[in-house]
Amino acid sequence: MRPKSSAYYELIEAMSQPGCPICRLVDRAVRQYVDVFFYESVTNVERRAEIREARGYCSVHGALLAGHARMLGIAIIQHDVINDVLREVNRILPEARAQRRPLDQLTGAPMRRAILGAVKPKRACPLCEYERDQEGMLLHALAGEIQDEAMHHAFARSSGLCLPHLQALLQLRGVASHHLRLLLQIERDILTALKAELEEYLAKSNGSYDYAGMGREADSPLRAVKLVSGRVIGRR
Ligand SMILES: [Zn+2]
Ligand SMILES: [Zn+2]
Repeated sequence: MRPKSSAYYELIEAMSQPGCPICRLVDRAVRQYVDVFFYESVTNVERRAEIREARGYCSVHGALLAGHARMLGIAIIQHDVINDVLREVNRILPEARAQRRPLDQLTGAPMRRAILGAVKPKRACPLCEYERDQEGMLLHALAGEIQDEAMHHAFARSSGLCLPHLQALLQLRGVASHHLRLLLQIERDILTALKAELEEYLAKSNGSYDYAGMGREADSPLRAVKLVSGRVIGRR
């Protein structure tokens, strides 16, 4: 028998936990990447250039950076970004003190466009790119192993894929259609069960039941938020 990848075991483990297993594993991978980055790559010239050109991380990934032991690293990369933005802005914007503006200085719409060009990211957030790579690798592992009994069983008992990761799965190249069909049949069953729980929640909320009279469906609205919205960033 072909040895299983580490993604196989990680997926099966994540499927025993609440929520979309891809969201859970991708979140963990990104946090580990950030840990390693601050430990050993802050001074790496290429990584720094990527962050500078991306005009820093996106807001979702920027929020992951905070940490006491990382303050120096954070200072280095943020200084880099702000310094680069200012360098370009200063080339375009006249000094406030200057009374007479040279004729070649930009005003109005051309100035706005030029400053926008200085501020706007010139490439995607590096952590968004890393996240997307991880997502693709995990979805391929899931689809490739869905006929495996343990994987099939674990997925059928899981919370299912969030809709953004279902969308990512459907956009993935190289997934065999019989694997995809099997995955979609399980996902449909999971969504159907969640829909039934929401309907039970709604019926009980309208009737004479109080909250204490609820069963497993009590937290179904919150589980539904996670399944519908996922934790996916950037693309959607
Ligand atoms: Zn997800
Ligand atoms: Zn990002």
